[in-house]
Amino acid sequence: MVSYNQFTKTISLDVYGIKSDKINYQLSPEQLHDITIDKGQGVEASSGALAVNTGEFTGRSPKDRFIVKDDITKDRVWWGDINIPFDADKFDALYNKVVAYLSDKEVYVRDSYACADPDYKLNIRVINEYPWSNLFAYNMFLRPTEAELEHFIPEWTVINAPGFMANPDEDGTRQHNFAILNFSKKIALIGGTGYTGEIKKGIFSALNFILPVFKNTLPMHCSANVGAEGDTAVFFGLSGTGKTTLSTDPNRSLIGDDEHGWTNENTVFNFEGGCYAKVINLSRDNEPEIYDAIKKGAILENVILDEEGHVDFKDTSITQNTRVSYPIYHIENIQQPSIGKNPKHIFFLTADAFGVIPPISKLTPSQAAYHFISGYTAKVAGTEAGVVEPVPSFSACFGAPFMPLHPAKYAEMLSNKMIEAGVNVWLVNTGWTGGPYGVGKRMELRYTRAMINAVLNGDLGLYNYDDYHIHSVFGVAQPRTCPGVPTSVLSPRATWNDDEAYYKMAFKLTNAFRENFKKFEAYCSEEIRRGGPQRYAF
Ligand code: ATP
Ligand code: MN
Repeated sequence: MVSYNQFTKTISLDVYGIKSDKINYQLSPEQLHDITIDKGQGVEASSGALAVNTGEFTGRSPKDRFIVKDDITKDRVWWGDINIPFDADKFDALYNKVVAYLSDKEVYVRDSYACADPDYKLNIRVINEYPWSNLFAYNMFLRPTEAELEHFIPEWTVINAPGFMANPDEDGTRQHNFAILNFSKKIALIGGTGYTGEIKKGIFSALNFILPVFKNTLPMHCSANVGAEGDTAVFFGLSGTGKTTLSTDPNRSLIGDDEHGWTNENTVFNFEGGCYAKVINLSRDNEPEIYDAIKKGAILENVILDEEGHVDFKDTSITQNTRVSYPIYHIENIQQPSIGKNPKHIFFLTADAFGVIPPISKLTPSQAAYHFISGYTAKVAGTEAGVVEPVPSFSACFGAPFMPLHPAKYAEMLSNKMIEAGVNVWLVNTGWTGGPYGVGKRMELRYTRAMINAVLNGDLGLYNYDDYHIHSVFGVAQPRTCPGVPTSVLSPRATWNDDEAYYKMAFKLTNAFRENFKKFEAYCSEEIRRGGPQRYAF
């Protein structure tokens, strides 16, 4: 039997109650790739990437995400449908079952860390049932050097047992799968789901509590990159709005594609060591950097391959949420270490399926706070023909499912930091133009890129308001011209060819904004409330 151990170090998991006699510690990505294939849990695509199916779950399951209610969390967490409390004793009982389950299995252990800034470094041990989940941890977390591993003391532990099924009646879960954070024990316990995103978002959620509460640092669900002049840009947005796509820019160094912290020392740092890109409809023409990152070491999830191992990126028969994870060094132009200075520009990305929000507009500080708290994007009702009604989706701070504290806490920190740093904030609609979903079409990626480049190059006259039109409904400042973008695209109303229909749809959306904002009004100043849309339908 070959020894797979890359390092001579062997470890015991006795302290966790895991008695497995087959502990694979810190295997190399090549080893994990090969073992996955040997075990029949994955295949090699023609690109060299490993292709796996994550099983029953191909996305996160927010209703099965819990936080143990204990002395640390009870008075701090914003409890509700998003942060669902879990009983500490129930956690212990379930934990014991999971470790007993893993004790008769071969397990894969990886020591890694989160937070590229050494002052914020969080050591993480990930214990996986499956080799490919451990490869995901290699790709997504930061990789310690061999010297660092010598003296590695894990602080947080992720225990990931996709094959373990909970019994809701006994275990206190909603159904057989769960992702539970325990801040006293510093454990993320994940079972019943093989979706790898639960691993990264588990640690993200922990950091979204730890950093503001204990380190006075703002965590953000955003991507970030830096230009040749050292100018940082930050892109907030909900899933599918373009954080990964737009931050991966050959002319700017990538800091990270999803999770960052903004410190009081005027820096922005990545939490992670890799990217997790959507691959639906991916093409080399539109997104060459991401396309080329799919090679040996990367993991493709839930894609369809032909006999030669070529991926059909259009095939959504398993899920629309097809993904690839890769270590950040698969992208050529990266910032090393993954730290930038205070952002100069912040973009709020929204995929507006109503097709009424301007493709790019500048926000005042009040509008920026209002839109951050609202966290608007849209979901398209379905992919079947004839379904034309988009559904507005609001997620505070552009990432409510990962934010254990009240959104006002993050919003207040962001507002203060934006004002202090004198950041420019832009609202970018990467969604529909020329009509709503079903009538219009998705904004062309090359136009969105041109608009962002124009901002970053200083081509959109920042201070001259004659160059802008104030949108009569949203109140935002819409540029009249933009290099590389047809002028007709800049005004959403003009793209519709039917003013009345446009305004009707715009009011439908502003009413949804108003309805959603009600729950935050009590926490917000008059200043922030004024940042909302200017007109509503009565
Ligand atoms: P997540 O939080 O789930 O990682 P994300 O914000 O990183 O989501 P992306 O992975 O960048 O989102 O997904 C954006 C998707 O939309 C990509 O598939 C991209 O090709 C597509 N797209 C189409 N048009 C545009 C556009 N104008 N701007 C940005 N993305 C676009
Ligand atoms: Mn992303």
